[in-house]
Amino acid sequence: MICLRCGYCCVHYAVIIVDDPKLGIEPGNLKEKCTGDRCPHLTGDVCGEYGCAIHDKPWYDETPCYEFGQIENSPTDPCRMGVHITKNEEQAMSEKKKRGWVFTDDDTDEEIGFAEPDEYRDADDAVDRFGRNWGGNDFSIYFRDSNGDLCACGDDSRPEDFD
Ligand code: SF4
Ligand code: SF4
Repeated sequence: MICLRCGYCCVHYAVIIVDDPKLGIEPGNLKEKCTGDRCPHLTGDVCGEYGCAIHDKPWYDETPCYEFGQIENSPTDPCRMGVHITKNEEQAMSEKKKRGWVFTDDDTDEEIGFAEPDEYRDADDAVDRFGRNWGGNDFSIYFRDSNGDLCACGDDSRPEDFD
């Protein structure tokens, strides 16, 4: 099985790991990585580009991680769970980068809404209509241009201002 480096296993699976890589596999240097805890040896933060900081250690092939594999038809099949997770992530990223109106929560800065460019006449219209459905919380509006950059809007900003 070929791991697609989606990072899922090294966060969500429980496994015994070496604690201090300098000491290697010693009885007092092993610990449980619990389900949901990010392994301290996991590197990276992009789906498809995660890595393991101890893969190159001479004793790595004696660890449970080395033995791990999903059940696939052949050693050269990509991990089916990884295929699914990386595809979802790619889709989410491309959705995120779509050109259009973007609404963010002022408290958390998180994106709370997206609208196609032609859904609102201008920023004032977008704020008015989006705000009615946003329960009275404070939000900001931006326009994501075709480069994926978030641009600040004035009241009368229109989609054609952001090409
Ligand atoms: S030791 Fe490496 S392969 Fe094992 S859980 Fe941690 S990061 Fe993943
Ligand atoms: S789910 Fe598959 S691709 Fe993702 S880390 Fe685990 S083995 Fe690798």
